[in-house]
Amino acid sequence: MKIVDVTVETFHYRSGMVRDSDGHGHPGPEHDARQSLTTIITDEGLKGYAIANISKGVLESVIKPVLLGESPHYRERLWHQLKERQRLNLATLTDKVLTVVDLALWDLAGKAANLPVHKLIGATRDKVPAYASTMCGDDLEGGLNTPEDYANFALWSRDRGYPAFKLHTKQPPYAGAPSAKADIEACAAVREALGPDVPLMLDPFHYYSREEALYLAKELEHLEYYWMEEPMDEHSMSSYVWLCENTRLAICGPETAEGKMHTRAEWIKAGACDIVRGGVGDLGGITPLLKVAHLAESFNMRMEVHGGGPGNLHVLCAMGFPGEFYERGLLHPFVDYEKPAPWLNKINDPMDDEGFVHVSQEPGLGQDINFDYIQANLLETY
Ligand code: MG
Repeated sequence: MKIVDVTVETFHYRSGMVRDSDGHGHPGPEHDARQSLTTIITDEGLKGYAIANISKGVLESVIKPVLLGESPHYRERLWHQLKERQRLNLATLTDKVLTVVDLALWDLAGKAANLPVHKLIGATRDKVPAYASTMCGDDLEGGLNTPEDYANFALWSRDRGYPAFKLHTKQPPYAGAPSAKADIEACAAVREALGPDVPLMLDPFHYYSREEALYLAKELEHLEYYWMEEPMDEHSMSSYVWLCENTRLAICGPETAEGKMHTRAEWIKAGACDIVRGGVGDLGGITPLLKVAHLAESFNMRMEVHGGGPGNLHVLCAMGFPGEFYERGLLHPFVDYEKPAPWLNKINDPMDDEGFVHVSQEPGLGQDINFDYIQANLLETY
């Protein structure tokens, strides 16, 4: 089997999400938006899909020259070839682009083997407990504005079945943000609402000083939080070593720091994290996420997977102990997460009443794509 083409189809949909000036998503007025489907096509007619865009420039200059004519089963080699090409194409051949290609290749491989991806890797389970992961704070009445809003939403999440809850607190450009004190007020309200036994996590503003990060950590120690992630710029690994040395709170990272599995290895070696982190989108696909999962297991360290989606879910169902939770969200009181996106016939991460997300048993990544919708709303193909 050989790869004969890679296509990108961009289509229109109506979105109820808006981005603030710092790039965080919130519920807002409906508006026109764009989404893309990337498809890797083989000479045997099998296709692998990823719901994401690759720009025409990088598709023609790097992706197609590396992939066309190759067997899709040589994922590891193809991933390394793309990784090595990043050195001279840093601006365009991002880890996100590697992710799109790698996800589509794994989807294709699963279909070729007639196995869901987690069983192709070697499965440990078919369902994972989820935590409710909120959107960042906002100024919407009854949204995620006040500590009481967070507490009310935490109670809703418990009733829905979520066994754990993570706050993304208020960040700029909202008035009063960032504020470590306000973050703790929200965290305290959630702890009080849910009682002592529910695992709780905080993901605050990412550019606090060491003193502010340590203040958060000490307060979260008292509130018996489960972990905190990314309170400071992750490019300063020394700051995270210092934080870990000064608190018994589990520090989870790195999430957004570049460098794939290499960065995670350095953080573990340096003692800059208690729980290592990364997801398909941060690392460049399922291929490197598996490397980090095995790295974590080798150090008896937990690894919390960043973000949802089918790639992360299949890896979690192939991982043993390091990955405890699936990050389900981002959630908001005004958004119905259970409703599939217009380009899907059903959601990728259905959750039962006990808070377990079930992985698809269909071959590949199991995405139930609404191809008719995509064709009916097509804007551009290349
Ligand atoms: Mg995070």
